[in-house]
Amino acid sequence: MIRVEHIGIAVKDLETAVPLFEKLLNTSCYKTETVESEGVNTAFFQNGETKLELLEATKEESPIAKFVDKKGEGMHHIAFEVADIESEMKRLSSEGFILLNDKPKQGADNKLVCFLHPKGTRGVLIELCQERK
Ligand code: ZN
Repeated sequence: MIRVEHIGIAVKDLETAVPLFEKLLNTSCYKTETVESEGVNTAFFQNGETKLELLEATKEESPIAKFVDKKGEGMHHIAFEVADIESEMKRLSSEGFILLNDKPKQGADNKLVCFLHPKGTRGVLIELCQERK
């Protein structure tokens, strides 16, 4: 676990959330990207070392749609950058954490990612991410 890479925030729609966060952070969204496999559109902001990822569902079965239905908009996950995602997955699994992915998968922003079940982390969804080289 190297550092917090970004914080993910679930929103109903990027169309109104992006201008709101641009106002809040006084910076422009630098990237939007669709992750088809997850059913999400993402929008990224960076202030110094701090990165935020807004997530909007693209379909009803999207985990983001379910999250927003159940809990409303808000904090969705904390992503930690790791140097070697496979070894970190092995370590966390052997420590008893529940991984939501058997293998690292392609995430937004050129990352390999894996999620940990919030049941095992006091309610916080954790994402591991490693920069794709
Ligand atoms: Zn994320």
